Amino acid sequence: MSTHLRIGIVGGSVGGLFAGVLLHRQGHQVTVMERARHGLARRGAGLVVQEQVTRILGQVGRAHLAELGVWANERIVLDTGGEVISRENRPQMQMSWDLLYDGFRQLLPEQLYLTGTAVESVTPSAQSAQVSLADGRALTFDVLIGADGQGSTVRNYVNGDGSQGILPDYAGYVAWRGLVPEEAMPEQAKVQLFERMAFHFGEGMHALGYLIPGSEGQTTPGERRYNWVWYRTMPSGHLHDLLERAGRSSALSLGPGELPGAIRDQLRADASALLPSSFAAAVAAEAQPFVQPIYDYETPRMINQRLVLLGDAAFIARPHTAMGIAKAAGDAMTLAAAMTGCPIDEALAAYEKARMTQGYAIVDYGRRLGRNLSLAR
Ligand SMILES: Cc1cc2nc3c(=O)[nH]c(=O)nc-3n(C[C@H](O)[C@H](O)[C@H](O)COP(=O)(O)OP(=O)(O)OC[C@H]3O[C@@H](n4cnc5c(N)ncnc54)[C@H](O)[C@@H]3O)c2cc1C
Repeated sequence: MSTHLRIGIVGGSVGGLFAGVLLHRQGHQVTVMERARHGLARRGAGLVVQEQVTRILGQVGRAHLAELGVWANERIVLDTGGEVISRENRPQMQMSWDLLYDGFRQLLPEQLYLTGTAVESVTPSAQSAQVSLADGRALTFDVLIGADGQGSTVRNYVNGDGSQGILPDYAGYVAWRGLVPEEAMPEQAKVQLFERMAFHFGEGMHALGYLIPGSEGQTTPGERRYNWVWYRTMPSGHLHDLLERAGRSSALSLGPGELPGAIRDQLRADASALLPSSFAAAVAAEAQPFVQPIYDYETPRMINQRLVLLGDAAFIARPHTAMGIAKAAGDAMTLAAAMTGCPIDEALAAYEKARMTQGYAIVDYGRRLGRNLSLAR
């Protein structure tokens, strides 16, 4: 049985919160360090509620949140001319990422969640881990969890000595994305796209779209948002140029407002030339499209001394799997369960043993889906 420990968690997105809430409830002294100055509220989109998400919500008495979402009643496939070429009755719900984030954030006492707190480096040892923060402070923990996402800092110390950034592999394509307020969508696009999941398949591209809750979790018609995603192949040199032109050459992605105007205009022109007109209209209606390059990453280990990786810091699966959040929930539940049963070092080893296979399987599944969609490797 692990006695009550000082647990530091780097990253206060859903993965960090899942672990933070479960371990706080077990009596551990938890500190979540999130670099975003104001936290992450109202920055998410939608998510498909997988079994592990339902399970973790149930464990913390928030099962009702899994019922709150926007339903798509059917799936349609559009050809380039905008004709519906197939239709399938397959209802699916999109929950609000923000509701999930807020739901867990409320379960952690305010003083345990430090915003504007960026971890710069880590000094691990056999019994503890010390972090150095960007503001010059140093904090010491018995266990340090890296829930710091795709560009994880903690990963550099789990799989190396910290001197080199370990970056994920670019998969050769990007997702251009937009989240359009419902009322900003043109009427013709609303009629074809709303209340359903719509898809378009082309060589080296794949587009899809569906309604998600509003930025405050609203599900009533008129207050929702249209989420469109346009995957397109992009050679790594072009991606590098794009990030450079945006002045973010070391970033892994560009958020809303970060795309140079000329790139945004080209995106709209390409959409008009290549996509069914309702999708092109959704692209044109987005004032601040953003871009998420697609990456793969498989960690060779999830623990090293008292450092632990969780969620996207450990394994990055392509978004087609819709499993990023479920995977983080599975990691957090497995870690918390292991920590109730045995001494800490045995618990961490048991966690790694249980989650490595899962991680590899999900990343591999994402690669296969990418290949099936004719999106590069
Ligand atoms: C703002 C936001 C919105 C998202 N919205 C959605 C969505 O709508 N649907 C969906 O399916 N997925 C969404 N995701 C992605 C999803 O959360 C992840 O794919 C998955 O759940 C795994 O989460 P994670 O907690 O491991 O990593 P992430 O969600 O990527 O979170 C990593 C966190 O670590 C923080 N961080 C990184 N480095 C440091 C550091 N050195 N010091 C301190 N903090 C650090 C980041 O600011 C971030 O908050 C979103 C992620 C973010 C950050």
